[in-house]
Amino acid sequence: KLENATLKAELGRATWKFMHTMVARFPEKPSPEERKTLETFIYLFGRLYPCGDCARHFRGLLAKYPPQTSSRNAAAGWLCFVHNQVNERLKKPIFDCNNIGDFYDCGCGDEKKDGKEEA
Ligand code: FAD
Repeated sequence: KLENATLKAELGRATWKFMHTMVARFPEKPSPEERKTLETFIYLFGRLYPCGDCARHFRGLLAKYPPQTSSRNAAAGWLCFVHNQVNERLKKPIFDCNNIGDFYDCGCGDEKKDGKEEA
């Protein structure tokens, strides 16, 4: 089947939005299990992302820049960095990762200040 760049880009935007929003909600101080869960998710994502070329390239980035999971900041900074690696390859503008702050808000309205979920 022919490549459809519009659909590929739409999937990419939705996916990046989800991923950045997910790490923006990752615990500030994750437990070893939470760290492992995120790491596993990212590697499985690299196997399952439906655009094959994108996934292959992403696995190359993972090999070069392993996921950072020690804190929310580390995870968000890492994802911003790898997204910028993709931006660079696709000749897109580079995002200023220092300005990521509250850019990705899930709108869930249930997070306490300490980053822990309600019981
Ligand atoms: P996107 O890159 O989709 O970004 C969406 C929005 O996120 C931007 O408008 C900006 O507000 C914000 N943003 C931009 N950079 C960052 C950053 N570094 N950190 C945080 N937020 C940021 N497409 C291909 O054609 N070839 C590929 O090989 C390819 N590989 C991909 C690999 C992965 C893992 C993913 C998720 C997508 C891939 N894509 C690929 C799709 C591509 O990255 C874009 O999603 C798509 O081209 C749409 O681009 P866009 O300009 O709308 O912005």
